[in-house]
Amino acid sequence: MKKRFVSLMVLLLCVLSLVGAEGTKEQSTQTMQGFGSSERPKYVFMFIGDGMSHVQINAAQVFNGNNTKGDIALSPLSFTQFPVLGLQTTYDATSFCPDSASTATSLSSGIKTHSGVLGMGVDKTTKAENIAEKLKSQKDWKIGIVSTVTLNHATPAAYYAHSPSRNNYYDIGLQLIGSGFDYFAGGSINKATDKGQASIYDLAKANGYTFVDTKEAIEALDANSGKVYAQSPRLQDGGSMPYSIDTDDRDVSLAGFVQKGIDVLDNEKGFFMMVESGKIDWACHANDAAAEISDILAFDDAVKVAIDFAQKHPNETLIVVTGDHETGGMTIGYASTGYNTAFEILKNQKLSYVAFDEIIKGMKSANANLSFDEVMELVTKDFGLVAPNANATDKALVLTEVEYARLQEAFHQSMLPSDKRTKDDVTALLYGGYDPLSVTVTHILNNKAGIGWTSYSHTGTPISVYAKGVGEQLFSGSYDNTDIFHKLRDIVGVN
Ligand SMILES: [Zn+2]
Repeated sequence: MKKRFVSLMVLLLCVLSLVGAEGTKEQSTQTMQGFGSSERPKYVFMFIGDGMSHVQINAAQVFNGNNTKGDIALSPLSFTQFPVLGLQTTYDATSFCPDSASTATSLSSGIKTHSGVLGMGVDKTTKAENIAEKLKSQKDWKIGIVSTVTLNHATPAAYYAHSPSRNNYYDIGLQLIGSGFDYFAGGSINKATDKGQASIYDLAKANGYTFVDTKEAIEALDANSGKVYAQSPRLQDGGSMPYSIDTDDRDVSLAGFVQKGIDVLDNEKGFFMMVESGKIDWACHANDAAAEISDILAFDDAVKVAIDFAQKHPNETLIVVTGDHETGGMTIGYASTGYNTAFEILKNQKLSYVAFDEIIKGMKSANANLSFDEVMELVTKDFGLVAPNANATDKALVLTEVEYARLQEAFHQSMLPSDKRTKDDVTALLYGGYDPLSVTVTHILNNKAGIGWTSYSHTGTPISVYAKGVGEQLFSGSYDNTDIFHKLRDIVGVN
């Protein structure tokens, strides 16, 4: 009896596994259906907002929307209207709060690796060929790599380099040139020279790259320009493009670099363009919502350029927009503001925390006895915040006595040489290694607007994925960041 029961169970399991195998087979046939060679995209745009989760995205929609009670409305971004939405997990081999090197490697190459590792497995030796390299070698597509941060920074580098450490900047720069990719644009090369070795810029020129860094020369680029390195005319912290909030008509926007990318890359065989907005992440590390939101809006403008292109090539284009991980633990809603938000007060912020730090640095070097009142005047001018009891048209911008005392203490700390500042658990939580004054100003303004921050680092929040165009349906549902590579590989038809 017992024996017969066991045989029955074995039979049942066999049937079940057959059904399962059939189901999987059906699914994979379905996956590949619609991707015959005539139905594959010829033009693929991969947009990555570094540190950008659905919270950062929605914060931009709230900021641009209507904040009036009784008439609350979001102002949608272009890509949040895409027909397909998915959700990706972002953990890496090191952490549930992963870094940009490992997450970009997962997106570009479909493998999990350690934080800090680029284009290599957990053994830090085995190279994984990424989607851009596959498209170049197997389909002869032209490849564009665009970023607001340095082009040998982790995220862009994961699309052309393989290195056990993201900090091997010079070597990664050499791999950039060696890639033979067609269009690099945005920020500069970090550490372009190393211990007396030749400059990466000189080597790029010697390897056939046209280098341009004036607005006129960038605007003149076209399909006849050959291999191009187009660098932002003005650079900010660490050689990146300036924050969008700090730009003026001397600058080329991210959208401008994407448009030029299309001009340079457009050809009969096809192209792949990876576009990263890297300073969304940096602003979130520093807990500066206005700078971050402004960069998301600039990122959205860049996506719109791809959407315009897709309208001209509707059956040949795929646009994917996602992030690599969340940064800052941002929330819409804060302990002291309860169910209220006041995002409109962020519009009083005129510059990024970086630009503010630069101004304060200049004032300090011109006047060693800089007073709090002088700095407070600047805080009012550039962030709208006013001292308690001051005449203010907008009450939401008036500092409470507690906030004012916080600002005074932060000013005091900020005026000390950095090695003389208080360093304990409390200041680590308050300032997170940033300049005490500017981080306190943005904390106070953000909190008053109804924005909370829980970290100065990355977090484990899953990241939304938006897709539009040929193969869009594959991006629906919940999956891992490594799956994005596999989906792209299936859609474009490379091994
Ligand atoms: Zn980061």
